[in-house]
Amino acid sequence: MTFAATVLTLYPEMFPGPLGISLAGRALGEGTWSLDARNIREFATDKHSTVDSTPAGGGAGMVLRADVLAAAIDSVPVGRPILAMTPRGAPLTQARVRALADGPGVTILCGRFEGFDERIFDGRAVEEVSIGDYILSGGEMGALVLLDACIRLLPGVMGAAYSGVDESFEGGLLEYPQYTRPVEWEGRTIPEVLRSGDHARIAAWRKQMAETDTRLRRPDLWERHIGARVQSPSGARQKKDE
Ligand code: SAH
Repeated sequence: MTFAATVLTLYPEMFPGPLGISLAGRALGEGTWSLDARNIREFATDKHSTVDSTPAGGGAGMVLRADVLAAAIDSVPVGRPILAMTPRGAPLTQARVRALADGPGVTILCGRFEGFDERIFDGRAVEEVSIGDYILSGGEMGALVLLDACIRLLPGVMGAAYSGVDESFEGGLLEYPQYTRPVEWEGRTIPEVLRSGDHARIAAWRKQMAETDTRLRRPDLWERHIGARVQSPSGARQKKDE
């Protein structure tokens, strides 16, 4: 089944962009996923093709009009989640990416200027997604990030030898550090355990490193990981303070 991506944007020429090369590009050529980048401006109804207007209540910049956005959304086949890139949205996670990659595809709205008229989110059941706590000039880069994260998970894209299950975030932890040849570089050597050939010791070291690094670098992830572990097998959550 093809993962169908529709991107609604004022700059369709930004697509596929970087998704046209390497793994994603090959998968696009093979039909593993499809891309339809549509210009929001085509759905404007006045003779000047107006897509935006000044913010109600005053203030700087321009806001994308809900009626124009709705017409763009309504042109897309139903049955796929409709996402909008917004800094106010839910932070994108590997779990959300995996769920999207398991589905039929996605429609992504890319904002520009000051963003979207708020009414579009309710009016068309649009899910707001953020790619991080910083401001981009437009949603297109966010859409590329989201699509790249989904596409590499599609069956066949990464190759049979690679499962992706060991990766950072997949088990709720960051990945352990990686090394490759040469064994010694500028006086720094690869940890002895990784050269031991002892698979049990290597696995134990990697687990310990993943846990330590997550605890030190990302206390937020570590807290969630620990919280998930105190869940009983039935799924009922135990109170941590008891
Ligand atoms: N005034 C808005 C920012 C608009 S930035 C605010 O303060 O919330 C213009 C567009 O870039 C947004 O509509 C959105 O589509 C995109 N964008 C900016 N930062 C983003 C982020 N962190 N994640 C996802 N999309 C983002």
